[in-house]
Amino acid sequence: GLLPGRDEVDEAVAAAYEESRNVEGGDLADHIPSLAEADPELFGVCLAGVDGSIHEAGDADVEFTIQSISKAFVYALVSQARGHEVVRERVGVNNTGLPFHSVMALELNDGHPLNPMVNAGALATTSLVPGETPDEQWHAIRTGLSAFAGRPLDFDEEVHRSEQATNQRNRAIALLLESHGRLDDPMDTAELFTKQCSLRVSAHDLAVMGATLADGGTNPVTGERVVSAEVSRDTLALLATTGMYERSGEWLFRIGLPGKSGVSGGIVTIAPGKGGIGAFSPRLDSAGNSVRSEQFTAHLSRALGLNIFASD
Ligand code: GLN
Repeated sequence: GLLPGRDEVDEAVAAAYEESRNVEGGDLADHIPSLAEADPELFGVCLAGVDGSIHEAGDADVEFTIQSISKAFVYALVSQARGHEVVRERVGVNNTGLPFHSVMALELNDGHPLNPMVNAGALATTSLVPGETPDEQWHAIRTGLSAFAGRPLDFDEEVHRSEQATNQRNRAIALLLESHGRLDDPMDTAELFTKQCSLRVSAHDLAVMGATLADGGTNPVTGERVVSAEVSRDTLALLATTGMYERSGEWLFRIGLPGKSGVSGGIVTIAPGKGGIGAFSPRLDSAGNSVRSEQFTAHLSRALGLNIFASD
């Protein structure tokens, strides 16, 4: 079935927001210096229905850098452009069981990144974005993610500079991928990945981006088709098993929906055929997932009966 009526959804979003706004716990990301300066009390939430309706609470329009949430949408764009078999073979679709920036996951699997939602697999996926030059690839990423959001997304120069100065680990992973024959241009790819992570979104944007995947690839606010229904389906299957890194099982057990987190505190969650949920709060658990965003999404999923495994 669809979402309940507008007022009921508004009430459910407001109630889930109230239930989670005082949740403490978690720490700011500190491996990227400028993320450690975020206001830890920010908290914004939004649900966008596949009918284009918007329901929001708190700091829903405050912008932050998209970080790892970009991986889900870049995967969808690459899968659309190159076909899902190319991505499945080059990158993979299984969980690593290890943190998002693990080098060991790559080495234990003969240089195979396993999935596009950890940094190794995301680097390999980003290198497959169509374009003759890194600038052309960057243009494709920015335009594509903006189409998901339904508005032109800004680029955060400061966060990009901060991360580009400290992303030795991602560059090392890119070099390892090159040594295993899975990348051609490791330094360009690492920089491009860092740039995609520095696009600015709000919880509202994340909800619309998620609603586009929930709606089979058509943005329900602008009406633009961004990716095919097949690509949307594949992306959601992938997120169900890998979107929360090594906590993906716990997330699916608790919430019953595919989602993707990023280290600045955003989480996008998709209720297929119904809508997208965006949440933002900078304090993270030890896997790098936002504590309040998860709590909010769990409440909302329960209140609206969104768990895809429930039979009633
Ligand atoms: N740009 C971030 C990093 O490489 C992305 C990771 C994340 O959001 N989990 O550290």
